[in-house]
Amino acid sequence: MEIYEIEIKTSEREEIIDITNDVQEIILKSGIKNGFCILFVPHTTAGITINENADPSVKKDILKIFDKLIPYFGDYQHIEGNSAAHAKSIITGFSQLIMIKNKNLILGTWQGIYFNEYDGPRNRKLLIQIINIENKN
Ligand code: ZN
Repeated sequence: MEIYEIEIKTSEREEIIDITNDVQEIILKSGIKNGFCILFVPHTTAGITINENADPSVKKDILKIFDKLIPYFGDYQHIEGNSAAHAKSIITGFSQLIMIKNKNLILGTWQGIYFNEYDGPRNRKLLIQIINIENKN
């Protein structure tokens, strides 16, 4: 079974990028009608979330809230200096599981899929595996 890949070029140190359309395109390309997809971020300073897609200021607020919870500068020991990014990544998580019906992602009206960058700018990727659960009758 094929594992698809989306390339994501981030341009800020911290950034939340809407990737809903990119994921939907991969589903259409796969030809799978009904099932689910697993989205996986193979990085230690990024993550993937599902969140509001209507008001763009939500993304800014989320980054602000994360920064209050986990300040960039702190009494950290990691020599690379990006411990806050590692911690935010763990809190966000590295995968999402989303249902597919009639070749469409099942998301709520106000939901979008987001790639969260915490230590950019970098060239990132998202791995996608699509599982077919087509009914035989
Ligand atoms: Zn590090």
